[in-house]
Amino acid sequence: MGSVWRDGVRDTLGGRLGGYTVGPGSRKLPVFFMEDAMPARRTRKEARQRIEQVFQAELDRMFPPDESKPLKGSKFLDWENQVARMRQALMPVMLEERAAVEENARVEKTGHCPYCQSGSVYMEKQETTSEVTSPDGVVAIEKQHCRCHDCGGSFSPSEP
Ligand SMILES: [Zn+2]
Repeated sequence: MGSVWRDGVRDTLGGRLGGYTVGPGSRKLPVFFMEDAMPARRTRKEARQRIEQVFQAELDRMFPPDESKPLKGSKFLDWENQVARMRQALMPVMLEERAAVEENARVEKTGHCPYCQSGSVYMEKQETTSEVTSPDGVVAIEKQHCRCHDCGGSFSPSEP
């Protein structure tokens, strides 16, 4: 195998997504460590911009900057519900962006086929999205796919 598990990397994701469920099953997302440098899916700047946009929209909804617009809700419960809504809008985006800026969010080398151990493996252009259920809603995690030239096996480099 041209790649190894590294406890530190697993722990990073395990800690971040620990306890969440993935798709129909309830397995944790493992992270496959490769020896070579792996780029993040997004720059920190891009991640911050997306989070700021979501936060700004929610802030404007609860605290309209235009003083002529009335504030919504009159009871504490109303305000709690508004904050809960804000959390549900913002937290999944923050988790998605945090996963996307992780250095190992995307692998460049495919490693070996988990079925036949062949090194003749290519990365498929099409990526899919896995859904992770967080306490504040669904988090979309993008996933790469590899295919083996020798046995035709299909696998995700992040899920050996
Ligand atoms: Zn194979």
